[in-house]
Amino acid sequence: MKLKFCGAARCVTGSCHMLCYDGGKVLIDCGMRQGADEKGELGASDFAFDPKEIDAVLLTHAHIDHSGLLPLLVKRGFDGKIITTKATAELSGIMLPDSAKIQEQDAEYQNRKNLRAGKPMVEPMYTSADAQKTLEYFQPVSYGDIVEVWPGLRARFNDIGHLLGSAAIELWAEEKGTTTKLVFSGDIGRDERPILRDPSSIDGADYVVMEGTYGDREHDATTEEDKEKQLADVLKEGIARGGNIVIPSFAVGRTQELLYTIKRLMMKNAVPGLEKIPVFVDSPLGINATKIYERCAREYYDEEALEMLKMSGSPFDLPNLRVAETGEESKLINFQPGCNIIISSSGMCDAGRIRHHLKHNLYRPDSTILFVGYQANGTLGRILLDGAKSVKLFGEQIQVNAAIRRIEGFSGHAGRSELLQWIREIGSAPKCVFLVHGESETLDKFAVDVRALGLDVEIPDLLDEFELSYGASGVVRMPALTPKKEEEPDLFIGRRLNMIAKQWGINGALYCMRGEEPLYDTAIGVADANKQNLNGIHTRFAAGEITMAFTAAAALILDAQGKLNMDASLDKLVPEYVHAAEITAKELLLGQKTVPDYADYDMSFKLYQQAHKEKLGAMETFKLTWNALNGAISDEDVLNIVNKLDVVDDPENSAGRRSSYRILGMAVARAYGKSLADALNELVFAPIGMKDTGLDKAAEVTYTAKMGDESIVVGAPKLCAGEAGGVVSAYDLAHFGTALLEGKLLDEEHTDIMLAPNACGLRTLNGWYYADSGIEQAQSALYINAQYGVSAAMLANAPSAKEDADETGAKSFVQRMRYEMDDVYLKAEDVQLERINDANVYSVLKLAVNEDQQEFVAGNDISLAEAAALENALPYAVTQNGVAVGFALLNADKDRGVYEIWRLMIDKRFQHKGFGTAAMKLAMAELKRMGAEKAQISVEIGNEAAIAMYQKLGFSFTGRMEYGEAYMECEL
Ligand SMILES: [Zn+2]
Repeated sequence: MKLKFCGAARCVTGSCHMLCYDGGKVLIDCGMRQGADEKGELGASDFAFDPKEIDAVLLTHAHIDHSGLLPLLVKRGFDGKIITTKATAELSGIMLPDSAKIQEQDAEYQNRKNLRAGKPMVEPMYTSADAQKTLEYFQPVSYGDIVEVWPGLRARFNDIGHLLGSAAIELWAEEKGTTTKLVFSGDIGRDERPILRDPSSIDGADYVVMEGTYGDREHDATTEEDKEKQLADVLKEGIARGGNIVIPSFAVGRTQELLYTIKRLMMKNAVPGLEKIPVFVDSPLGINATKIYERCAREYYDEEALEMLKMSGSPFDLPNLRVAETGEESKLINFQPGCNIIISSSGMCDAGRIRHHLKHNLYRPDSTILFVGYQANGTLGRILLDGAKSVKLFGEQIQVNAAIRRIEGFSGHAGRSELLQWIREIGSAPKCVFLVHGESETLDKFAVDVRALGLDVEIPDLLDEFELSYGASGVVRMPALTPKKEEEPDLFIGRRLNMIAKQWGINGALYCMRGEEPLYDTAIGVADANKQNLNGIHTRFAAGEITMAFTAAAALILDAQGKLNMDASLDKLVPEYVHAAEITAKELLLGQKTVPDYADYDMSFKLYQQAHKEKLGAMETFKLTWNALNGAISDEDVLNIVNKLDVVDDPENSAGRRSSYRILGMAVARAYGKSLADALNELVFAPIGMKDTGLDKAAEVTYTAKMGDESIVVGAPKLCAGEAGGVVSAYDLAHFGTALLEGKLLDEEHTDIMLAPNACGLRTLNGWYYADSGIEQAQSALYINAQYGVSAAMLANAPSAKEDADETGAKSFVQRMRYEMDDVYLKAEDVQLERINDANVYSVLKLAVNEDQQEFVAGNDISLAEAAALENALPYAVTQNGVAVGFALLNADKDRGVYEIWRLMIDKRFQHKGFGTAAMKLAMAELKRMGAEKAQISVEIGNEAAIAMYQKLGFSFTGRMEYGEAYMECEL
């Protein structure tokens, strides 16, 4: 893992740091170089990297010295995501276009000069169009959320109190199975700043990249009150002078703080006559930023600002506020008589309307120029502060006669002791603190203080690169993603899956997503018992039979490309298979015909004989079969076995999936003209970014098997072919599922084949599909639900601790997963009654009520038997989005005019969701449809819950009792 310093190294502008790790390259900030920093090694517009190679940018805050080169990055080919807070995204939405406009104007100005001088034309660094395009890449996040930046890289943005939306970024990067935590401070704000909340502290880090703008100085006004007093003093003095008070100010942040502070002074009446002085905000950007500040109130303000908002409206709304949107309005300010407060940008006076105001006010002895922000080396602001007697503006030499004042307390940057406090609060000692964003001497001095805390410090020069060591300072774990907020059911998915994972004692990894959005993941235990490597969502496990689904996908892609005809027999592609003429690829895929399983028909028997002959115990027998069934077996050996057996064409008895997919794998390789591994890699894995997956890669885990009390570690399955032997991570497997659902791998026609019942190693039940590894010691499960667009993968390297009574392993897990998902997504409104048919009967047979209700309701098996035997009995499945949730048995005796609801049950998993009432209403409607005027129902005396529900629906007792049941009736 490498960290490269591409800006703000021994200077304060052009913040840009590049992290290179196993998974890719990520930038933290991409700021514009300003003032003297433009003359550094990279100039104003060179990058220390190829923008096309950058996968993502994390943006600490919206200031141009942190964000200003983003449009240039996009112009030069970057097309990844830019992750930042919502407020930063909003502010960037006005600041980047504004910056582009300045670039365009500068170029136009330069070109006018060049034209006159006969020099070639120049292009703006970037244009408004580039800036607009850049905004499309923004992905806003909330403070405190853990978000995935890129595979193996997670981030959390923490309020750092420097600017609306500003953040210190915690970054967890995974490399070689170990996680390293980096913290990028961004610009560190200060406690008690107006409007903003105080900077939050960070808990622990391996490496810290920290700003040190004020590392050698304390601010002279540290409290809010001090600062207000200083401003009051300057305003009083300026008003007394009689001329304008010109305040160069960053349009975003500082302008709003000034307005807020002026409003406070006015409310306190701290500056007599202030309410009569016009306050101009002369900056379209400043005006728009103020609107954003007003919009973001609830999520970002501190208590005082919220209080002011409540008591006296917007903190920026002054009675004497005037805004100048257009250039005309701006120029008119110069004709305003008397004293005016003019807040204009840029804050360092190197561009923008402020320069006009300086031209008209610097020479006047009654004017005041008030600096409230940092002035970088080489900027006009700095030159004025350093006491220049005259300056050049618009080609004219202007005398400096105005009073030059400065209030440092407005600084958005922490002072020396505040910086030291921040780094101390990180707690566990970082391996190294990199100091950036400060002038050289400042950082040198600050480093002495940081070293005094016992920390290692580096002050990188521009383009310095540091190799980061990982894993030595204890175990940093990848934090779990923050579940999606909002009231959407997705919120619960994480909690529920976590519950199952814990309950099942999974020693593995779980990843769940909906569309492109990760919903939840977890990784528990160690991947490798010997090396004690932790499981991660990128840990490669043996995929087992899930490999079949990969093979099927490759075959279907080749069919779409016209290279493998799914409907043609296989004799052309696999002529060595003697039955190839009798079977097509599609029949193999759909399980309509299968090749007998080589293991079942030959190997197992031999193994059984051998174990019997050698009188092996259970553990030895297990080892023998594991090694035989999971070691490599050549295509030739497989063919030798299956050539002796007939094709099975009875789908009910097709046991030969393994052999089928072995043959299909051979067909794919030959149709593609390369090895099967190449075919899968190039057709399936690479196009959808499955980086961890392959046939030729090695699994990173060992597997544990238990026999009674004994536990052994066995190797990863080795079969490298179409039926098994692929390796995959939970992350990749879930992405594979989503790609299928979203049609990214296959067109509609081929997706239908892929997701057909009993196809491709995917089993289907009521609209959801699962694949499982079929190996108890290496459970891998893929769950995809077309209805909810959800895909989840579970990979484990030890048998789960708890087993269902009838089903064990991945399949059972996946079913549990599905119940939990259904629980979350199913809603009572979508309940339907469906006549019992061959598609729903088996699901209905599995439904059961709670134990305490069992004495009241007959089992569905008995009800279905009755329905078959009795005339007039009509059985229904109660379904919800195609999933059976209950059962109803109606009786419609048209001859006697008797219509009854004989039975109604809702499965225990789906109770208390309103399904019972919804199903009753449907049953009543169904009876009415058949001609009933009244519906009858019988109920066990004592089933109070049922009686209450029926009464609510309008049923009342008729007085008739039979077999201990009371009859109720309702008009329809
Ligand atoms: Zn900043």
